Amino acid sequence: MMDSQQPAAAREKGLCVLDSRRQVLFANEALAALLGLGGAGELLGQSIDTFFDAHSRDCLKRSESVPAPADPMRVTLLPCNARPLPAYLACHNFHGDAATFTGAVLILTRRSLGESSEQDLSDQLEVALEAGELGAWSLDLRTGKAWRTELHDRIFGYENKLPDWSYETFIEHVIDSDQARVKQSLADAMDAGRPWEFECRIRRADGALRWIWAQGRLQRDVQGESLGLFGVVRDISARKAAEEQIEFLAYYDPLTRLPNRRLMTDRLGQAVRAAARHKLAGAIFFIDLDDFKTLNDTLGHHTGDQMLLEVARRLLSCLRAQDTVARFGGDEFVVMMEGLGDSQAAIVNAVQQVADKILESIEGPYDFSVLRHRRTTCSIGVAIFGSTHDTPDALLRQADIAMYRAKAAGGHAVQFYAPHMQAAIDERVALESEIQMGLRQQEFELYYQPQVDLAGDSVAAEALLRWRHPRRGLVCPDQFIPVAETSGLIVPLGVFVVRAACHQLSVWSEDAAMARIAVAVNVSVRQFHHPDFVDEVCAALDATGVDAGKLVLELTESVLLDCVEDVAARMIQLRSRGVRFSLDDFGTGYSSLYYLKRLPIDQLKIDQRFVADALNDANDLAIVRTIIALAQGLGLRVIAEGVETQAASGFLLAHQCHLQQGFLFSEPLPTEAFEQFMRAQRMVEGASSEDAACGAPYA
Ligand code: C2E
Ligand code: CA
Ligand code: CA
Repeated sequence: MMDSQQPAAAREKGLCVLDSRRQVLFANEALAALLGLGGAGELLGQSIDTFFDAHSRDCLKRSESVPAPADPMRVTLLPCNARPLPAYLACHNFHGDAATFTGAVLILTRRSLGESSEQDLSDQLEVALEAGELGAWSLDLRTGKAWRTELHDRIFGYENKLPDWSYETFIEHVIDSDQARVKQSLADAMDAGRPWEFECRIRRADGALRWIWAQGRLQRDVQGESLGLFGVVRDISARKAAEEQIEFLAYYDPLTRLPNRRLMTDRLGQAVRAAARHKLAGAIFFIDLDDFKTLNDTLGHHTGDQMLLEVARRLLSCLRAQDTVARFGGDEFVVMMEGLGDSQAAIVNAVQQVADKILESIEGPYDFSVLRHRRTTCSIGVAIFGSTHDTPDALLRQADIAMYRAKAAGGHAVQFYAPHMQAAIDERVALESEIQMGLRQQEFELYYQPQVDLAGDSVAAEALLRWRHPRRGLVCPDQFIPVAETSGLIVPLGVFVVRAACHQLSVWSEDAAMARIAVAVNVSVRQFHHPDFVDEVCAALDATGVDAGKLVLELTESVLLDCVEDVAARMIQLRSRGVRFSLDDFGTGYSSLYYLKRLPIDQLKIDQRFVADALNDANDLAIVRTIIALAQGLGLRVIAEGVETQAASGFLLAHQCHLQQGFLFSEPLPTEAFEQFMRAQRMVEGASSEDAACGAPYA
C-alpha cells in the first residue's frame, strides 16, 4: 500500500482530528508547521476555522453532510504571520445520531492529492494517519467488511497484519484490570450514540505492556441508518511515561525519592482535617542536619548526596509505615506523624520517643570511607496539630521556628513550637535526671497491697512502687513510670523492684506471720524484653535464696504481643525456676486465647475498670463473667483488682472469683504498716475462727 518514499511525503501532510465544533482534538507536527505554529500542542482546543479563509470554511462546512470520505478540495490556509497558502484538503467525517456532524479527520497538503479515486484517498488517509501515529480501523456494517491500517496492527505488536481482527481480538489484548472499564466506555458510547474515547493498557503480541489511546464512533447515513464503525488508536506509552516522570518530579525529590514540599503540604492539609475530625493530634518534625554545609563544601556534592540518602534511609527506619518523610531541599527533612493521642502526656510521650530515636539514629557512624568516624547531628523542631486550625504552611513555619531554636541552643536537640509543650518536655527531661538521681539516692521503695482469698486471708501482696522525692514528697507511679518507660530508666528501676521484692520475701520467710505471703511484681514491656531480664530475676532469687514460687510477675497483654516465640522462651525459663505469672489489666488488651493456651500463665487479673462498673454496667458485667469462665475453662486462677465495696466483693464471690484486691481490704501500705495489717488480720482470724467456720468469708 505504501512505497518507500511515502514516509517522507507523510511528514509533509498535515493531519488533525476535529470535534463537532471543529476544534482540534489532535494534530501532528506537520500541520503545525504548515500553519506557522511552533508545535502541535498549540493547536489543541483551537477552532480550525481560524486558519481557513471564508471560502474554505464554506467548503469544509458543506463536506460535513457527506458521510463517506469527501473528495479532496482546494482550500486556502491562513498561517500565522505568513501569506495565505493554497492547499488540498481531504476529509473523513464522523457522523452521530440523525447524521449530525460530530467530527472529522482532515489531511492538508501543499501538493496536489492527485487522482482522487477512492483507493487513493484511503491510501492518503493511511499515510496521514501514519504520520500522526494513528492506527485506524473501520467496520462497514452493511457489508461486514473490515479495514485496518498496518500501523493499527503494529501498535498491538504484529509486524505483519493479522488475517482477521474483531472486537474480541481487541479486548483480548487489553490487560485484565482495564477490561471492564473499556467494555463499559464502549457500551456507554454506543448506547448514547456518542464517540468513545479512553486510555487503557494493552499486552502486545511480544508481551510488552503499552498504553494506548482509542477514539472512535458509529457512522450513520443521512437517514440515521448505521453505516459502520470508525476508530483510531495511538500508542501513548511515551506520553504516559513522561506524565509519570512529570508527576514524580512535581511531587518527589529526585535524589532521595521521598515526597517533596508540595506533596507533604498536600498530605499535611489532609492530616490536619482528619485530626480535627477524629480528635487525635498529629505532629510535624522539621529536621535539619547540624553541619551539612561544611560537609558538602569540604567533601563535595557526591559525598553530600550519599549522606542525604543515608539520612533519608535512617529517618524511614525510625518511623511507622503510616508516617510521611519528605525532603524539602538541601538538608531539610520533614516528618509527619498522625494519630498520636488526645492528651498532652500521650502526645509529648510519642513525640519524645520518636525524636530521641531520630537523634540517636542520625548520630550513628556513617559507613562511606570519607565520612567514617565523622559525627553528624541534627536539630528537630516540632509543631503539633489537631486542636488548632492552623494551615499546613503555618504549621511548617512553626516547626521551622522551633527547629531554629533547637539549633541556636547548640543543635542535637528537640524543641516544641508551643510553649506549654516545651514546658512539658523540659519537665520530662528534668524528671528523667531526677529518676536517675533518685535511684542513686535510694529514694524508691515498695508499698504492698494485700490480695485476699475466699477465707479472708491475705495470701499475697502486690508490690507497688513509690518514690519518696525530697521536694515533691511521695510520688505515685503514674507520675514517673511512663517517663521511665520511654527513657529506658524502667530497666534499672525494674531491677530495683525485683531485688527489693526478693529481699522482702527473704525477710518475711523468717517471720511466722508473714512467711506464707507471695509477692506480685509489675513488669513493663521494655523491662521484660531486656536481654538481661531473666538473668536479673534469677540472680535476685539466688542472692536471697527465696522460694521462687513466692514470686509472681504481673505482665500486661502488651508484653506478649511482639515476638511470641521469644516471650514464650523467657516465660518458660522463669517458670521452670518456679516463678509464676499473672496477666495484669486483663480484658483491656488484645486478649488472645492463642497465647493464653501457649504461655505458662497461672492467673488472670481482671482490670479494675470492669470491676468498678460491673454492678451498674451490663457490658462490664458480661466481661467480668466471661473472664472468670475463661479462667476456669483454662484451669487458671483469677483475681479481681480495684474492689472497693462490699457489694462488688459479694458479686465477685457469687461469680466464683475467689481472689480479690482493693481498697475494701486495704490500700497499698508501706512495709511496716503492711506487716501490722497482717498481724492484726491473724489475730482477728484466730479470734473469729468460729465465725469463719460458719462461712463469713472476709475478716
Ligand atoms: P496496676 O498494676 O494496675 O496497679 C493497681 C493500681 O490500682 C495501683 O495504683 C493501686 O494502688 C490501685 N488500686 C488498688 N486498689 C484500688 C481500688 O480499690 N480502687 C482504685 N481506684 N485503685 C486501686 P498505683 O500504685 O498508683 O500504681 C499504678 C500503676 O503503676 C500500676 O497499675 C502499675 O501499672 C504501675 N506500677 C506500679 N508499681 C510498678 C512497678 O514496680 N513496676 C512497674 N513496671 N509498674 C508499676
Ligand atoms: Ca499490677
Ligand atoms: Ca492492674
